[in-house]
Amino acid sequence: MNHAIRADKFLLDADRTTWHDETLWFVREKRDRAVYAVPEFQELRELASQIKDHTLSRLDLYLQEFEAAAQANGVHVHWAADAAEHNAIILDLIRQQGATRIVKSKSMLTEECHLNPYLIQHGIEVVDTDLGERIIQFREEAPSHIVLPAIHLKKEDVGDTFHLHLGTEKGESDPQLLTEAARQHLRAKFLAGQVAISGVNFAVAETGGVVVCTNEGNADLGVNLAAVHIACMGIEKLIPRLTDLGVFTRLLARSATGQPVTTYTSHFTKPAAGKEMHIVIVDNGRTQQLGRPDFRASLKCIRCGACMNTCPVYRRSGGHSYDFTVPGPIGAILSPNIDMKKHRSLPFASTLCGSCTDVCPVKIDIHTQLYKWRQVLGEAGEIPASKKWSMKFMGRLLASARVYGLSGQFARQALRLLPHGLTHAASFNAWAVARELPEPPKQSFREWYQQQPKSVPQPQTPQVTV
Ligand code: SF4
Repeated sequence: MNHAIRADKFLLDADRTTWHDETLWFVREKRDRAVYAVPEFQELRELASQIKDHTLSRLDLYLQEFEAAAQANGVHVHWAADAAEHNAIILDLIRQQGATRIVKSKSMLTEECHLNPYLIQHGIEVVDTDLGERIIQFREEAPSHIVLPAIHLKKEDVGDTFHLHLGTEKGESDPQLLTEAARQHLRAKFLAGQVAISGVNFAVAETGGVVVCTNEGNADLGVNLAAVHIACMGIEKLIPRLTDLGVFTRLLARSATGQPVTTYTSHFTKPAAGKEMHIVIVDNGRTQQLGRPDFRASLKCIRCGACMNTCPVYRRSGGHSYDFTVPGPIGAILSPNIDMKKHRSLPFASTLCGSCTDVCPVKIDIHTQLYKWRQVLGEAGEIPASKKWSMKFMGRLLASARVYGLSGQFARQALRLLPHGLTHAASFNAWAVARELPEPPKQSFREWYQQQPKSVPQPQTPQVTV
């Protein structure tokens, strides 16, 4: 099933689509206000972009520096080539502790590796402690946004879910009451957690420490209560020095939600006395993307979600329509690298308007990369035959002024004479499914232009009398 078909399902509920669109646009506007309040924001973007470019160009060296510094801090470092290795390492660590109960803060990497189902299948209780993540975990859904995982749900949906799983009153949808119910429920899970798993926003090569940004403080609570902390990070999370961190923390929250900074920016550098800390460093296709010069800049992503909030296609098709852990414009660049065949429709889920590129805090040329993926997919034969042949046909038609003029005449006549049901039939004209075609004009601009007088009147020079 391709993106357009999945988006069609989302669009069936017109009210929800409009609400989703407006809610994310509200976040985008908040981002704009936060950005305009920082006069040096563009300089920060440029600096962040250069730091990430530099780090990616020496990633092997920085990874080794990070590993050595982390080990010197008493942290165990593990390397995973892919999702299967990542999951096996974590299960092994949990079993070594004899643990059966895990608390986990938000980590898109563990979503990417499908860690939850893997651990549950092996008899481990996994509790997502981020509120949005817990809601979708109850509903057995995937996150639809990387920062706002349950943004596709209304408060009434959350009320129904909590009634089912937490026993709140039927029909209760007051956000304050629902949040309090989740708080009480999660507090017990935090206290029972034996191992805490967290994601990583930034890993500092110089110190060997990792930085986790949350708004709920759930990562801190989980890590401080459990005997073991396992932090999972992709290889691209590195920054060279601790002094670089401020550049990114100033950009991240402003771009994500319009906040000046995330509520909690927590540094985990070494295990507390009597406890263990592990870091699992994961590749899972990232070195392959690093080896693609046209797409390596996508590894600069700091997962702020701004490109999703601004994207007109994402806002009106919903995160689940991408069927990939990271949806939206950046997901449409990352996903074909993982599985070109499965995700071949995603680079086409864009108007190429460039709004994603404009808001990206690390200056990734997102829309250019989307356009490049289309070419790569074309060359790899991963474009549907109907699209390939229609593009060839259009190429011929647009290459000849005469053929173009004749086809325009034909189309105007056809639109005038054919019945509405035929010109707007879904199988024949998908564009017109949700739109009315304009009245065909009597003549084209070209025909009108040819009828105009050929001589162009010269501007008159004003007479000057001295
Ligand atoms: S590509 Fe840029 S805008 Fe999109 S999530 Fe990543 S950092 Fe944010």
